[in-house]
Amino acid sequence: MRDFSYFCTMAGIYIHIPFCNSKCAYCGFYSLPSLKLEERFLEALKAEIVDRKQYLQRGPHCELDPQSPAPKGNHGMPTINTIYFGGGTPSLLSIKEIGELLHLINTHYPVAPNAEITLEANPDTLSLEYLKGLRQIGFNRLSIGIQSFFDNDLKYLSRRHDSQHARQCIDWAKQAGFSNISIDLIYGLPTSNAEQWNKNLDIFFAYSLPHLSAYALTLEPNAILTKQIKQGKLPPVSEEDALRDYEILCQRAAENSYLHYEISNFCRCGMHSKHNASYWFGTPYIGFGPSAHSFDGTSRQWNISSVEKYIDARRETARLQDQKVPRPVSEKEQLSPEQLYDEYVMLRLRTHWGIDLKWLKREMGERFSTYCEQHAKHLVAQGKLSQTREFLYLTDEQMLFADGVAEELFWES
Ligand code: SF4
Repeated sequence: MRDFSYFCTMAGIYIHIPFCNSKCAYCGFYSLPSLKLEERFLEALKAEIVDRKQYLQRGPHCELDPQSPAPKGNHGMPTINTIYFGGGTPSLLSIKEIGELLHLINTHYPVAPNAEITLEANPDTLSLEYLKGLRQIGFNRLSIGIQSFFDNDLKYLSRRHDSQHARQCIDWAKQAGFSNISIDLIYGLPTSNAEQWNKNLDIFFAYSLPHLSAYALTLEPNAILTKQIKQGKLPPVSEEDALRDYEILCQRAAENSYLHYEISNFCRCGMHSKHNASYWFGTPYIGFGPSAHSFDGTSRQWNISSVEKYIDARRETARLQDQKVPRPVSEKEQLSPEQLYDEYVMLRLRTHWGIDLKWLKREMGERFSTYCEQHAKHLVAQGKLSQTREFLYLTDEQMLFADGVAEELFWES
């Protein structure tokens, strides 16, 4: 039986802010390009933060091994090591609004004194004063959606900021006292080429920031960009360009001593995103807000992905609370050991940590470690997967095909 005691002692919190100033052409995320529902949303969000604090207490410790001792302190509630405000555009909220949410979390959850507290921010919403405010209310990590330092790329992506403001935001963030700063960049753009992508990376490295998330432009089925390309209004995206830029990225990151710790993520030593890493390590987390996911170690739960329905459901829950028949605001899936194994394989192959065969044997059982090792043999022989005595992992070149390799290792019933 998998030992879940580790999972009972730490956890993460994710808060989804579903509003943006406008919709970016490439965006496939759920977000509303208007703040009309903001007030009612914040009311519902605060209610959810307070109402669901039992979620982490009811974790795998109690469900799977009621005989094992409860973690000490916090009345069985795991310590919150990471808090992540994502979206959407969380930086659209005022300092006062975000401060109230953070205060509520600190009041109802045992947040570690050194917890990583991240806010995703878009340059068009940032000012020096705002960034100083974030530091004052307790944020210690910032993830800025820069996407490119070139105006032709930003225009193609229909971003609201320009390259000058992108640079200004990084300067302001440093001035405001943030040292743990990550930026997002997008590669494989038809408006760019190898030279321009290299220049983007030059600018990133010159800032000496501890973290970079770099994504290939993908055409999401519901994105405006996809439609415009199909109609011939914009130049198409090419896989060769994305592959070329990925190779440049891996090489330049290695030359500049950045660790490629996940397909799209690079960091200076020890500066990986602790929040995102906890997803890959199976740490429980609770997600608040529309479309937010939660995981308690054995089951997954996801909230309704409509702001209106989310607000209505929270109101109805409050109304019916006395009758103990709250209206469901989320769906839940109990994961079998085989599904947990598949998730472990899929998530860990995307990271430089890879599949730990010893861990697999110890925590999930020999049938899983043996199965994994046997099915990995032909992939290792074909050069699609690398192996040391204890680990199965993907090199930079192999990482691009992580999903296909993972599929070959999935459990067949
Ligand atoms: S800011 Fe981010 S979430 Fe909002 S529309 Fe643009 S890509 Fe989507």
